[in-house]
Amino acid sequence: MSPHTVDMPQLNSSTSVYVLGVRVDRLSQRQALDRIDAIITQRRSCGNQLPCQQVVTVNPEFLMAAQRNTQFRCAINAAALVVADGMGIVWAAWYLRQPVPERVTGTDTLAELAQLCATKGYRLYLLGAAPGVAELAAQRLQQLAPRLQIAGTYAGSPALAEEEAIIERLRAAQADIVCVAYGAPAQDVWIYRNLTRLPVAIAMGVGGAFDFLSGRQRRAPRAMQRIGLEWLYRLYREPWRWRRMLVLPLCAVLVLLKGHKGLEC
Ligand code: UDP
Repeated sequence: MSPHTVDMPQLNSSTSVYVLGVRVDRLSQRQALDRIDAIITQRRSCGNQLPCQQVVTVNPEFLMAAQRNTQFRCAINAAALVVADGMGIVWAAWYLRQPVPERVTGTDTLAELAQLCATKGYRLYLLGAAPGVAELAAQRLQQLAPRLQIAGTYAGSPALAEEEAIIERLRAAQADIVCVAYGAPAQDVWIYRNLTRLPVAIAMGVGGAFDFLSGRQRRAPRAMQRIGLEWLYRLYREPWRWRRMLVLPLCAVLVLLKGHKGLEC
């Protein structure tokens, strides 16, 4: 067991699939939300004494980055919850005969999380993205879930020099969940590095979710999302991503050749 995990009902190996050595939990969005709810409930019932738990939303770019970035790979494999964000992950799990029930994106999960927070009175903190974007995303989430309590918003940065001050902000805000939008792998490594001192129940990396919710970036039409072409729409809207996406065909080849196998943490 990782030093960062608490005594929660652990997911056993049959509920996870390893793709190139990277763990992905075979959960629907509903199941993922129920697990997040259980973690927050348990921490609250212990007077907020339990350590923070990490949630990672994995896509094929994560898989490739995790091959060479050990800290990133360890962060994912030790997380309390790892959901299949990218359609490439859904396909890989299907190819490896351990399919995931559905794609679970960071943006959709954040919207559902807002509903959960509004219903249960959990306090949500939005950290990251360009200045002003988290505030707009918070307004949008409050439209979707009117009773939502936003504990705070802050752009900040994943720089080491800012860590202490950000943790102080989270403590003062008395948040239950922090969603971190610094892009991968920075956001996930930032959470992993600070896990033992983050004063929240859940810390989740959400990539571009604030950009989408704030309206700063337009998300692919539902039809494109459904047929697994959200990445293509993103490339069309943000052509600078071509270099990052060059790894995707290589990722597909590696999954065909190596399947579950990858480096250990
Ligand atoms: N970002 C940030 N600080 C940084 C780097 C990135 O706040 O030092 C933000 C960026 O503004 C964006 C978010 O990280 O809102 C996610 O970036 P990206 O779209 O690349 O993430 P992805 O969804 O591809 O993981």
